[in-house]
Amino acid sequence: MAKNIFSTAYTLGILGGGQLGKMMLYTARKFDIRTNVLDPSPDAPGQYGAHKFVVGDLMDYQAVMDFGAHCDTLCIEIESVNVQALRDLRAMGKKVHPNPDSLEIIQNKTKQKKFYADHGIPTAKFEIVDGHDALKTALSKWSLPFVWKASTGGYDGFGVVVCRSTEDVKLIPDAPGMLEDFVNFDLEVSVIVAQNESGDITTFPVADQEFHPTANQVEYVLCPSVLTDDMQRKAQEIAITTAKAYDICGLLAVELFVTPAGEILVNEVAPRPHNSGHHTIEACYTSQFEQHIRAVLDLPLGSTELKCPAVMANLVGAEGYAGNVIYDGYHDLLNEAGINIHIYGKAQTRPYRKMGHVTAISNSRDEARAKAEWAKNSILVKTQDNALGQKL
Ligand code: ADP
Repeated sequence: MAKNIFSTAYTLGILGGGQLGKMMLYTARKFDIRTNVLDPSPDAPGQYGAHKFVVGDLMDYQAVMDFGAHCDTLCIEIESVNVQALRDLRAMGKKVHPNPDSLEIIQNKTKQKKFYADHGIPTAKFEIVDGHDALKTALSKWSLPFVWKASTGGYDGFGVVVCRSTEDVKLIPDAPGMLEDFVNFDLEVSVIVAQNESGDITTFPVADQEFHPTANQVEYVLCPSVLTDDMQRKAQEIAITTAKAYDICGLLAVELFVTPAGEILVNEVAPRPHNSGHHTIEACYTSQFEQHIRAVLDLPLGSTELKCPAVMANLVGAEGYAGNVIYDGYHDLLNEAGINIHIYGKAQTRPYRKMGHVTAISNSRDEARAKAEWAKNSILVKTQDNALGQKL
């Protein structure tokens, strides 16, 4: 176990200074752990609170090497990082989490799916199709509905084409990807696993995800889950098996589909803190961000027990606004017990960009859900006017 990290020169490097990096810094400040943050944007939310903030391209080999040379342990808040640099930093004796080989697989959705198939991890049936020629051949074997996913470059539903009709099929771009069975799931849930270098492993309680009806983006995360205890245990076991297969140190967020027949299928994973774990800041004894830092520094892991029901709502840019952000309508919410507003500090809004979140905690999940909805509908993420921003 690593020792003497608090108030020493031992430096944790965080690759990525978005909202996830920023929230990791809360724990780093709490424990007085030295941190360096690398992000391409000089306005990144994670620029404050770190000992050193460096502007640089996370996919650039030299930028990552130069940054890593001044750190003892490195972790990520985003998957798009130069993997070769991470491998070379490891070879130099730096601690790098997650392991670069697993990160390389996770960066690519088709490699991920193949990994699950090879390791007996339950996942929807799929076929790799690298472009339109391969797609034409594959289509003769697939009947509607099905889903096409890009191998790389997709997030928050971009890079996913749900095909219910031949018109939808025409929307598939000529790019490497895969076809996947359409899963008629009852529920999407996530389980966040943490493992430290010593092999201690914990899971956070299962969290249910509710999607925005049109934006294909998570709108609410609800905890505890409505699944039975047995189903929750099953989901946690699958998540642990997946984290062990990847040999993850740090967090692994595992997104799962639950089918009406009670099957649990892995959709995709993220080896870092995740949007589906923000409620853990207020609702669990240890937040996902603290657990991640404990795990990558090989400190003992904390209790993940849920203190109370919680519902997280993403605050996204309102439709029709792009430009310098302002937030409106939050004053009444600040008087309300159990409503926790988080503003990430991004200068520019655009429709559906994640700009913050609200976590409502309460004695019941239904009440927390109602409060979260009230908060989400009250806070407007927009631009001042057409002079400052641009009304689309
Ligand atoms: P992203 O990386 O963009 O979040 P996902 O693979 O999570 O992409 O897909 C986005 C959403 O699309 C999922 O959360 C789910 O609601 C839906 N989806 C993805 N795969 C399938 C599938 N095989 N069957 C049905 N819906 C799916």
